[in-house]
Amino acid sequence: MTTVSVRCNHCGAPLDVAENTRFVTCTFCNSQLEVKRTENSVFTEEVARIARNTDRMAESLEVIKLQNEIEQLDREWDSVRGGYESKRRGKGPPSRAGAAVGLLFAVFFAIVCFSMAGMASNTGAPGIFQMVPIGMGFFALIAAVMGTVNSTKYQTNRSAYQNRRDELVSRLDAMKRDDA
Ligand SMILES: [Zn+2]
Repeated sequence: MTTVSVRCNHCGAPLDVAENTRFVTCTFCNSQLEVKRTENSVFTEEVARIARNTDRMAESLEVIKLQNEIEQLDREWDSVRGGYESKRRGKGPPSRAGAAVGLLFAVFFAIVCFSMAGMASNTGAPGIFQMVPIGMGFFALIAAVMGTVNSTKYQTNRSAYQNRRDELVSRLDAMKRDDA
């Protein structure tokens, strides 16, 4: 490896750098140096200050990017949640507990309907008295199962949103801590 001798632009110490090295840290004063070459000389220039400023600028751009990403995520989630809520006509977002209560109620309702149909069959009532309760029972069960599926989908979306948001916020916090 061919090396060249240069002087630190900050403290004047002699440094040996590999021929193609562009950046070097002074072993005496720890300055960040850029090795510059002209046709007949090699010298160094201190770059620490420029680098620090560039870092800070890149960091504040990253902060803005993260903030924008969080805002967009919130907006997207607002519209997803709004979709769920409008389907439920103002009853708020679907909850697991609500879906479970709905399913329990539907099972109870279906049992009542099916036993009514059974009684109608035993007493020899016209077929309509069996068909209607059976239909109502099934309808309630299907609606409750769909409600459960809907609530599960909603919960999955919500936790994906929250995880992503937490991740972005903690990256933002880490960056703000570095700044201080
Ligand atoms: Zn130096």
